[in-house]
Amino acid sequence: MLIDLHAHSSRSDGTDLPAELVALAADAGLDVLALTDHDSADGWDEARAAAEAYEIVLLPGLEISCRHLGAGAHLLAYLPDPRFPPLAEELVRVLDGRNGRLPAILARLHRVGVELDVADIRRVAGAATATGRPHVADALVARGVVSNRDEAFDRFLSPGRPAYVDRYAAELTEMVALVARAGGVSVLAHPWGRGSRRVLTPQVLAELAEAGLAGIEVDHNDHSAEQRAALRAIASETGLVATGSSDYHGTGKVGHPLACNTTSPDQLGRLLDRADASAQAARQAGAEPPRAPGVAGVNT
Ligand code: AMP
Ligand code: ZN
Ligand code: FE
Ligand code: FE
Repeated sequence: MLIDLHAHSSRSDGTDLPAELVALAADAGLDVLALTDHDSADGWDEARAAAEAYEIVLLPGLEISCRHLGAGAHLLAYLPDPRFPPLAEELVRVLDGRNGRLPAILARLHRVGVELDVADIRRVAGAATATGRPHVADALVARGVVSNRDEAFDRFLSPGRPAYVDRYAAELTEMVALVARAGGVSVLAHPWGRGSRRVLTPQVLAELAEAGLAGIEVDHNDHSAEQRAALRAIASETGLVATGSSDYHGTGKVGHPLACNTTSPDQLGRLLDRADASAQAARQAGAEPPRAPGVAGVNT
């Protein structure tokens, strides 16, 4: 059974519509795909309908932009109720932060001689819920200023580069608790990838596990073989679920094809059990988390 728990559609910064993404996942032989757009559940309905047509299991998720001890960290949230007011409000804050800094990014680009306006960004952002740095990167590609997103980040958009502008992100420990209150489970995305490696020490991962974190993304292409082995050991010591995923973004991110990393059925089973427990408690408190999908041989 092939399970990929981290993929983006063009509702955030991937390049395939949710239904196209699901079709590609079926082509890649996946049995289970999680749609995890940045800070938005807008693609869920479309992906769900396509998953039914292609007979694959769709796990609805989000990748929430968080901050911990001054560093950015990405939290994968599976099966929360995105309309649960405290969660919905926090997601709006993150999305507004991303949209709101666009003028500042454009002003900084102007200072280094690159002329782009908001319309240029909107044109490349298409179906996206919020326009982030990847869309600015795409506009720079469209203008011929750079040849791909990576070059745009390296030259202009990454921290320390001339057009970098910080934005709002949710506090990580609080978001882990909030996802649980909304009936979902959370898994730290690429904990030792760029950005969060410095702050997400083994000690901090153990503390987050205590605070309700369900898992860590061990197999991710930002991690070396040594890092994966170390993270797998931490997961088994702390009781965290160990996942593996592609972080597919279509043509928006090279080297992350669908199913390049996968999660084992037993780890998915543990995650869905945690989600079940969380959903039961959350329903009593008035949240309406989506029903966990049945996965043959895992939880049915
Ligand atoms: P934002 O949330 O608007 O700050 O944009 C951050 C997103 O940009 C991340 O979640 C990645 O998907 C993407 N990203 C970050 N660094 C790079 C890079 N070097 N090349 C391509 N995409 C990147
Ligand atoms: Zn992304
Ligand atoms: Fe991420
Ligand atoms: Fe991602």
